[in-house]
Amino acid sequence: MNYQYWEPQAETMPRAELEALQLRKLKEEIGFALRTPFYRKRLTQAGITGTDAITSLDDLRHIPLTTKNDLREGFPYGFLSIPLKDVVRLHASSGTTGVPTTIYFSRDDIKRWANNMARCIFGTGCTKDDVFQNMISYGLFTGGLGFHQGGEEVGMLVIPTGAGNTARQFKLMEDFGTTVLHATPSFLLHLESKMKESGVKRENLIIKRAFAGAEPYSEDTRRRIEKLLNIDVFNSYGLSEMNGPSVAFECQCKDGMHIWEDSYIAEIINPDTLEPVKDGGIGELVLTILCREATPILRYRTRDLTGFYTEPCPCGRTHRRLRRITGRSDDMLIINGVNVFPSQIEEVIMGMKEVGNNYLIVVEKDGALDRLTVKTEVNTDIFMDDARPLNTLKEKIAKALQVSISINPRVELHENGSLPVSEGKAVRVQDIRPKDV
Ligand code: ADP
Ligand code: ZN
Repeated sequence: MNYQYWEPQAETMPRAELEALQLRKLKEEIGFALRTPFYRKRLTQAGITGTDAITSLDDLRHIPLTTKNDLREGFPYGFLSIPLKDVVRLHASSGTTGVPTTIYFSRDDIKRWANNMARCIFGTGCTKDDVFQNMISYGLFTGGLGFHQGGEEVGMLVIPTGAGNTARQFKLMEDFGTTVLHATPSFLLHLESKMKESGVKRENLIIKRAFAGAEPYSEDTRRRIEKLLNIDVFNSYGLSEMNGPSVAFECQCKDGMHIWEDSYIAEIINPDTLEPVKDGGIGELVLTILCREATPILRYRTRDLTGFYTEPCPCGRTHRRLRRITGRSDDMLIINGVNVFPSQIEEVIMGMKEVGNNYLIVVEKDGALDRLTVKTEVNTDIFMDDARPLNTLKEKIAKALQVSISINPRVELHENGSLPVSEGKAVRVQDIRPKDV
């Protein structure tokens, strides 16, 4: 394959050089941090009063971890390291797990972010000849503007459609010859479900790639989108605390996401003991940003569960690859005492060809016990009015789930395109158990 690099030197730099660069940037970032009210106190307490306190990357472990709660407590300006007059933009997290957190950018911070985003996009094979339809929310959410700037940086024609409205999305794809899409994986699936109804024919579209991220999805879901829409799908990972998208992205090999180690230091820790996890093991990702002066954030606990690939990527980039994120450590459901991650359920059902494009997990109380119901859409080639194949499918799903998660769920089947879809991140779990029982 002919791999293309946005910044060949930076992307293929020998590891020793990359680590030396990280150390230099880490010291610089600590300098910024010491100017913020939050870290001045936190770092001083840990004995770090100047950049000289750090002499090697190993010294990172002396820096205390930062949590989402810290960011919330520091609201609004506790993490700001430059005068407000030098701030040119703010963004906020989506608030999936509570009160959103706010991040500030200087003009140079925005430039660095756009460049990293361009690196991701160009690395999938896009060029300035592409027409890029950005089907994700704009506004405070980082996904819209982040990809928008990156697309422009590459020189693509960017269509800022934002999320939702499938009929209009199809119309724009036809009118302007869109070649590249960006959306959540759940929206891409929803789009496909609506294709027939909107009267659009795949052969009239020239789409060839999509970037999909902002929420967890399985390898089976990726394959399903690729097959249904006949495109290549690239996994995109980021979080607002670390700028948003452009933290880690798949290259043309589509096997793990390169995390840009000249902009981030990544660690994997055991979320219970907080000790480092051995190379290649799965744990919680902890990130330190090296490319932002306005809001330095050190050793941030992302709650996202992943691990590093240990082998180098065939594309020649030296920045390590992260595994597909299976969910957040706080996503875990405890159902009648059994631990279940929603991603385990997705893995089972999205691999079945009879299952449609959307699903919902409902947990409720049934007397003293918890009850799990998995609602899935069904592919249109199964007849909804013939009960036999439907009952067989229900049993098949229930059995497969029982094997995988050791819980016998109720299974409900729904017509394709009929389960609710959200404009932002998919809401896959409805836990309606009373909180204090
Ligand atoms: P919030 O944390 O409120 O959802 P963000 O918009 O900053 O706000 O979302 C970042 C989070 O989204 C990540 O920490 C991760 O949990 C999830 N996420 C983003 N991209 C992916 C991806 N490709 N795979 C799995 N999860 C992802
Ligand atoms: Zn690669």
